[in-house]
Amino acid sequence: MIQASQAREVLDAAGCVVTPGLIDMHVHVYDGVAPISIPPDANCIAKGVTTVLDGGSAGAHTYPGFEKYVIGPSETRVYALLNISVAGQSTFSSENPHGELLDLNLVNPRVAAGTIAKHRDRILGVKVRLTRNIAGDQDLEVLARACAAAREAGVPVMAHIGGSHSALKDILSKLQAGDVITHAFRAGEGGILDDRGVVRPEVREAMARGIRLDVGHGANGFGFATAERALAQGILPDVISSDLHAYNYRGPVFDLVTTLSKFLSLGLTLEQVVDRATRSPANVFAFPEGAGTLAEDTIADVAVLRLEEAPVTFVDSHAVERRAARRLRAVATLKAGQIYGAPAA
Ligand SMILES: [Zn+2]
Repeated sequence: MIQASQAREVLDAAGCVVTPGLIDMHVHVYDGVAPISIPPDANCIAKGVTTVLDGGSAGAHTYPGFEKYVIGPSETRVYALLNISVAGQSTFSSENPHGELLDLNLVNPRVAAGTIAKHRDRILGVKVRLTRNIAGDQDLEVLARACAAAREAGVPVMAHIGGSHSALKDILSKLQAGDVITHAFRAGEGGILDDRGVVRPEVREAMARGIRLDVGHGANGFGFATAERALAQGILPDVISSDLHAYNYRGPVFDLVTTLSKFLSLGLTLEQVVDRATRSPANVFAFPEGAGTLAEDTIADVAVLRLEEAPVTFVDSHAVERRAARRLRAVATLKAGQIYGAPAA
């Protein structure tokens, strides 16, 4: 405990919520190489997020540049999931939406596992996108290769679900405890609900086996109706992440605190949403010791947030709106004791 009188700098957080520096477990920040990416600092550390996990923007061939040109120079702490395609997401833009997993010659588990072994301090898992436009009809094959790489390297897999060629049941059957499905609350086919809006039994079974649900809001990954139905049936996300990228950071996602606010509006408590962007992601992936906590003797990463009581309209990935009475806003961020984005005193 440090007394204010002994402090070099005092940040007045009266009326604010002080939490561990937020962890956004799903972003795309390989700016300049993966076309859907954005720069991390303006979108993450400026908004309460001290640590991010990039969701497969880099593959084995493009990872060294990610470390050199993004992870190194960024103020935000950036970690990576390695795309199972050696090209990462460099093949894919809105003008040229060619999925990185359409060509199986780019999907090499041995090369991926070798890259992870070389960069174990920064690569925390394997990412695989299973949507038809990314993986075609070979989703189960690329998933098998992603799992093979991850098992060899001893890290979890994050599988992006929805709109895939194969049934969710077959996808989940390849995953094991510690693996993650992202876009868990998306609308449409291939999601966690059946046609009647009931949570599929294979999803409950997967959760019981230790498979985690990540929100990964994104441009296609979050529907209010899906979330409302799932929550009403007792299914909560393990982690709330933004899937922030070039096609959603101007809306409907904006940032992680807006995504957290959406879950507040769905009835989760403040403690529940903060937990899902601090302690919980730190339990899912091997972030450095102390990320996501305010325990003594850990890195001094802190988010100062304000719970603003005022009418607000939130929009999901499908242009569906919900009115809410309050929202979280990021006021200031401290990373390793340094202040970012504090308001003028
Ligand atoms: Zn993503």
